[in-house]
Amino acid sequence: MVRASSSRSVQVLIIGAGPVGSLAAYQLAHAGIDVALFDDHAVPVLDYRASTFQPPTLDLLEPFGVTDALVRMGLPSPVIQYRDRREGPIGEIDLSVLSADTAYPYRLQCEQFKLTSWLQQRIAESPHANLLFGSPVVRFAADESGTTVELAGQEGSVWHGRYAIAADGARSTVRRAIGIEFEGYTHPEQFLVAGTSYDFASTMEDIRSVNYTSDPDEWFLLLRIPDMWRVVVPVPQAVASDEAMSSDYIQRCLQNISPSGGPFEILVSAIHRVHQRVASTYRRGSTFLAGDAAHVNNPLGGMGLNGGIHDALLLTDGLARVLHGEDESLLDGYEVRRRAVAIDDINASTERNKRLLEERDPLVRATNNRRLRQICSDPQAAHQHALDISMISSLRRIGTLRTPSA
Ligand SMILES: Cc1cc2nc3c(=O)[nH]c(=O)nc-3n(C[C@H](O)[C@H](O)[C@H](O)COP(=O)(O)OP(=O)(O)OC[C@H]3O[C@@H](n4cnc5c(N)ncnc54)[C@H](O)[C@@H]3O)c2cc1C
Repeated sequence: MVRASSSRSVQVLIIGAGPVGSLAAYQLAHAGIDVALFDDHAVPVLDYRASTFQPPTLDLLEPFGVTDALVRMGLPSPVIQYRDRREGPIGEIDLSVLSADTAYPYRLQCEQFKLTSWLQQRIAESPHANLLFGSPVVRFAADESGTTVELAGQEGSVWHGRYAIAADGARSTVRRAIGIEFEGYTHPEQFLVAGTSYDFASTMEDIRSVNYTSDPDEWFLLLRIPDMWRVVVPVPQAVASDEAMSSDYIQRCLQNISPSGGPFEILVSAIHRVHQRVASTYRRGSTFLAGDAAHVNNPLGGMGLNGGIHDALLLTDGLARVLHGEDESLLDGYEVRRRAVAIDDINASTERNKRLLEERDPLVRATNNRRLRQICSDPQAAHQHALDISMISSLRRIGTLRTPSA
């Protein structure tokens, strides 16, 4: 129960100032809706997790000025390469084949904290937005009149909103408080992410900026981002987190990818527990889940944050229209469309990507590689594959994007 005391009211409360909550606040404030955005961190964090922005995300963000900013801060990567650690390159998909489908036929690599920081600077200047760091939401209550939150350690700091968006990440306090199940499973291995100043292209001359390399023992993802190269590798269950984060372990993983003749300069490193989970519902009364609070998946495919951005865009469009007087039923489509994509597309394809990378059976590996070669060498199949991996197919299916013939 939230303690009754003097409270402040806005139209929409947003819990969690990660990229999804920040985008939701930016969009609503832009539409003239009064919002309060709370985050438990005392100051903004440099979160390096996501770096891949998919083509339709850039299309959808363009009208709001966000894409121009992202493109200025990011690195366009049109080619995606599939490799096998033992066989070398298997094939490439050049997203330029999407030039009739999107204004941005490439993946944009840009660290997620750069987007969040850009959004928060604008939110802070908006007369419609309150941005509160150091404000963990600890109590949450909802009734017909809306939702009420209480902030930790701030007696009397109670906020009320007609609607609330829980964008408070995978461990969402709000999702737990309102009793929504987070269905799915947790992968047994963790993922190690390391960023280095070393230029892998100097020794691996045939690599591209985005590489997925399969291997039955230690697959890896190698990405060039604006400030460094990033490597993602699985950490076997038997290896403790401390050991995996040690310099020796990280150096060994990187030397195993490309011997550098000396120690790699490690700029950032982190270890992540990875899940495939989707909330059993995205709405309870006046409260909506968005982003990682609603769905989480492994990072193989660069889809989690993109999906969260698509959530925020659809939800804030509906909320703004309802708060400006349109019928509440407008909001019914949010869960129907976004939950279906999370289950049928984002979770399904990231699971498939992981299985392809880690496959141990030599015959299945050979079949997988043969199929990838066929896809990459057949223009029609390559185009369809590009539509699927860039999330255009799924956004068309739920009507967020129109097909060119429609
Ligand atoms: C290794 C890795 C690589 C990834 N790469 C990609 C990629 O390339 N492309 C992609 O699309 N996705 C990627 N992802 C996924 C992406 O990082 C997440 O989907 C994204 O961060 C989700 O954003 P969010 O705003 O929903 O949640 P978060 O970023 O988790 O933000 C939630 C915020 O809420 C705050 N909070 C939590 N509880 C409370 C509370 N009670 N009160 C107030 N505040 C609270 C948190 O402190 C945090 O600031 C990757 C993930 C990993 C692990």
